[in-house]
Order: sequence, then structure tokens, then C-alpha cells
Amino acid sequence: MSVPPADDPRALRDALLGQLAGGARGVIATLAAEAPLYAVGGAVRDVILGRPVADIDLVSERDAIDLAQHALPETHLTTHTRFRTASLRIDGRRIDLATARSETYERPAALPRVAPAPIGDDLRRRDFAVNAVALRLSGDAALLDPIDGIADIHARRIRVLHDRSFIDDPTRIFRAHRYAARLGFTIDPHTRELLRQALPHIAALSAARVRRELELVIAEMTGAAALASLHEDGVLAAVHPVLAWDAPRSAALTVPPRWQVPWQPFGFALLSAGSSADEAESIDARLHLRRADAEAVRGIAALRQSAHMLARRDAKPSGVVVLLDRYPPASVAALAATAADGVVREIAHRYLAEWRHVKPQLSGRDLQEMGVPEGPRVQQGLQLIRAARLDGWARDRDDERVLVARFVKSIRDAGAMTGELRLHSNGH
Ligand code: ATP
Repeated sequence: MSVPPADDPRALRDALLGQLAGGARGVIATLAAEAPLYAVGGAVRDVILGRPVADIDLVSERDAIDLAQHALPETHLTTHTRFRTASLRIDGRRIDLATARSETYERPAALPRVAPAPIGDDLRRRDFAVNAVALRLSGDAALLDPIDGIADIHARRIRVLHDRSFIDDPTRIFRAHRYAARLGFTIDPHTRELLRQALPHIAALSAARVRRELELVIAEMTGAAALASLHEDGVLAAVHPVLAWDAPRSAALTVPPRWQVPWQPFGFALLSAGSSADEAESIDARLHLRRADAEAVRGIAALRQSAHMLARRDAKPSGVVVLLDRYPPASVAALAATAADGVVREIAHRYLAEWRHVKPQLSGRDLQEMGVPEGPRVQQGLQLIRAARLDGWARDRDDERVLVARFVKSIRDAGAMTGELRLHSNGH
């Protein structure tokens, strides 16, 4: 992708619109014909960097909901009346239209009071200078850069707009590291100092807001690098003292994924891999995790207790499977990445890569046709032949049939024996 000259607003506008399909371009043209319209934040920053643009944030000094409803009467809009925003999806992209606003923070870490304001004020409420740049899309193209954000984009630097920024909104602490990792930028030294000073204010953020920030970090392609620097700056410990990150975790949370396990639960299990069962509970109490994430966090804590059972090179695969099938795969993957004992790591890895996928060839119905009675015996029989496959006793369908025939015979023999016992105890 070619980089348009950053001092040529028209070239930037053409480059931005050139990345969009016809539907999204049409929506923007319709809005821009109706009222002065600006692209702001990430889209402008990314087009200056020559990076592909994902979602688009638009700002208008007219009320965004009125404008969108009036200009796009046929389009499905999602509106937020508190912030006066309207958003829509088109061509696989999200377009957000916001009313230009100012924000005032009455308390640290609380949501701001908002009021309609000129575009210049809207840029001054933003998180970092690199995001405080607007490109006018209606009439003559123009760049608005009141805080020298373009210079920061060229210098590849993340800088807050004022010294209280992280105190007003501590979620910006996470955002700073997320952007730095994603864009390959560095956090400006003064900003980094302010970030460290604001760490105590993370405690005032609600569970949902901190959890959301961690979810966003984990979801990024460069999430591992962001987590490493969040750890280094003491941010993870400020969320909960047990949360940590290191090189083995970074190596595990890479794209493409090494193990087929759900990504977000895996990220949270890695973050909490050093925790005890009680600490896992208190992590969940702090973050109100989504259910699968909470289970993965509990799972890795419980697995740490039983890891010693896996520290044997001659462990039978069937035994390993009985133990590890009880835990979410994301927890086992976190164990495979972080266990201190190399044998445990290797066994957990083999479980994830091979053993958990081993299934018998015969089905429950096959077993019933061979004489296994309906009920829990069918599950037992399937487990038996799965264990035999895992440990190498059964290689194909025929081997499995031999085992099932023996299983049926043992059920019948046991049945006959209890029948005889019953006859005896009845006094016959
Ligand atoms: P991108 O900037 O690439 O879109 P993103 O998807 O993380 O990354 P959003 O969360 O959609 O960005 O935010 C869009 C814009 O809104 C940002 O560019 C920033 O200017 C502003 N913004 C978002 N969150 C905050 C915040 N907590 N404080 C101040 N400004 C914010």
C-alpha cells in the first residue's frame, strides 16, 4: 500500500475512500453532502501510515443521530442517545458517526459528562495525539491537527494530550500499550511516567471496563507484545497481583495459534497461570469474566495442583486423557506453555496435539448391536476402546470388536453371577 503525502489532504482523502467498497463510499458521500463531515482517529492515522483501514469513525458538528436518520432513511442504524452516536455496518465494515463533543470528568475513572462542541474540542478530548487528527471529507479536503498528532505519527510516538489524561480515564493505560504494540510505536517518556503514576487509579475502574480492555488486548495480533509491556509497567499487577506475563507466554500466544483452543479463554488462562484456586476466584471477582474465560482460569489453577501426576515420561496416554479431559483445553494449553517441568509441558502438548483427538471407530450404536445393554455401559465400553486405541492395544475396527465382545461377555458373566447370588439369597 502506497503512503500518500501527509501534507496533502486531498491525496489522503482519496487514499482513504479508495480503500472502501462502493457501498461504504456511497454512505460517506451521502452524509458528507448533508453536513460538514470528518474522518477522525484510527482511520486518518492509518491512512497516513499507509496501513489498511479497518473501521471508520466519522464526526459531524450536527447531531449524528438526526443526520444519519435524515440522510440514510433506509439504513439500519444502531444509536446511542447518551453519546449521540449512530453506527451501521456495510461491506463488512463498521462506520461510526458521532456528534462532535467535549467531555468533562467529574471523578477519576468515571464515565465523562458530554456536551456538543466544535470539532476542535472533540479532538482535544481524545486519548493520544496520533488519534487527534481529523480529515474533512465534505467540501474542500482539509486536515485538522491541533495537537501535532501528525508529527507523532511520523515519529511513531504515543503521547497523551494533557497530564491528567490517565487519571481521568485509566482505560487509556491499556490503550497506550495496545496501540504501541500494534503500530510498533514507542510510548513517549513523559507519557510513560504519567502512565506509571496513574496505576493506582486502575482500582477505581469497574470490572466490565478492565475486562473489556484485557479482552481487546488478547484479541490483537500483537497482543503478546502488549501484554509483555503491560506487565513490565506494572499494569497487570495493578489489575490483580497474580496476573503476569513472560517470554514463554508470549511464545504461546502467537498467531497462527499452536493449539486449536479458544483464544480468549487461553489468553486469560495464560495471564493467571501462576494462581492458586483461591486466587483464581479473586481474579474472577475483580474482572467478572465471561463464563468460558472463568472456567479456563479455574482450570489452570486446578491443573497446577495435579501437574505432578503428569511428570512421568512413561505416563500412559489413556491415564493422561482421563485426567486432562476434565479441564477446558484452554487451561491445558496454558499448562503446556507455562509448567516448570519439561515433562509436564511435553505430556500436555501431546494431549493437545494428538491424544484428545483420538476417538474409537465404533459408535455407541455399534456397541449396542454387539450386545452392550443401553445405559451407562455404552459410555464405559466406548471409554474402554478409546483407552485401548490410545495405549496401542487396538489399532483398527476389528481390534475394537474383539474388545467389545470381551466386554459383553464380562457383563453377561457378571449378570449371571449376580443372578445366581440372588437365587441363593432367596433361599432356593
Ligand atoms: P482504532 O483507533 O484503530 O480505531 P480502536 O478500534 O481501538 O483503534 P476505538 O476504540 O474504536 O479505536 O476508538 C476510536 C477513537 O475514539 C480513537 O481513535 C480515539 O480517538 C477515541 N477514543 C476511544 N477510546 C477513548 C478513550 N478512552 N479516551 C479518549 N479517546 C478515546
